[in-house]
Amino acid sequence: MHMLEELKKLYPDARPALRFRSPYELLVAVILSAQCTDERVNKVTEVLFREYNTPGKMVTLSAEELERYIFSCGFYRNKAAHILSASRDILEKFGGQVPDTLEELRTLAGVGRKTANVVYSVAFGGDAIAVDTHVFRVANRTGLAKGNTPEKVEEGLMAVIPKEEWSKAHHLLIWHGRLVCRSQKPACASCALHEWCEYAKGKA
Ligand code: SF4
Repeated sequence: MHMLEELKKLYPDARPALRFRSPYELLVAVILSAQCTDERVNKVTEVLFREYNTPGKMVTLSAEELERYIFSCGFYRNKAAHILSASRDILEKFGGQVPDTLEELRTLAGVGRKTANVVYSVAFGGDAIAVDTHVFRVANRTGLAKGNTPEKVEEGLMAVIPKEEWSKAHHLLIWHGRLVCRSQKPACASCALHEWCEYAKGKA
C-alpha cells in the first residue's frame, strides 16, 4: 500500500481537528461538521458545550434555542433536529450513554453512517473508515477505491486497507484532501501520490 505509506510519512500527526471531551461531544461536533469547517464547529461547540454537553442537558433546549447556538454552522434546522433526536434516543434507549458499538450507533435517530463510523473509531478506538467528502474525493481520484456512493468507497477502502489501519487511513485521506488534493485545483505536480494516482495519469 504505497499511497498509505506515503501519507503516513507526510502526516505523522493526522488526527481529528474537532475538539471534544466525551463521546457525546464528539457525536454532536460530527453532526455539526457536515458542510462546515472544523474551525467553525469548534467555535460553536466551545460556547454550546459550556452548558449543554450531555444528552440530558441538550434536550432541555427547544429546537429554536439550539438553532440559535449552531446557526453559523449552516443547515442549522436539520442539524438541530438531528442532535435533539439522537440525544433523546441516547437517553431513552441507552441510559444516557453514547453506545460503543457500530451497530447501536447506527440506530441513533439523526446519526448517519459517516457520523457513526467517526464516533466509533475516534471515541471508542474501533476499526471503521468514515467516508466524508475528502475521503470520497481522494479515494476516487487516486483509484484507491472507486465508487459513486460513500458506501461503495467505504467497502472498497476496507477491501484494500488492513483493518487495523482503517481509522488511521480515514484521517490521512482527510488531511490529504484538505491540504493537497483539494476539490478545486488539486496540487498534482507537487503531490507525493503522483506516481500512483489515476487522476494524475489522466485515467480518472
Ligand atoms: S496526484 Fe493530484 S489527484 Fe492525485 S492525489 Fe495527488 S493531488 Fe490528488
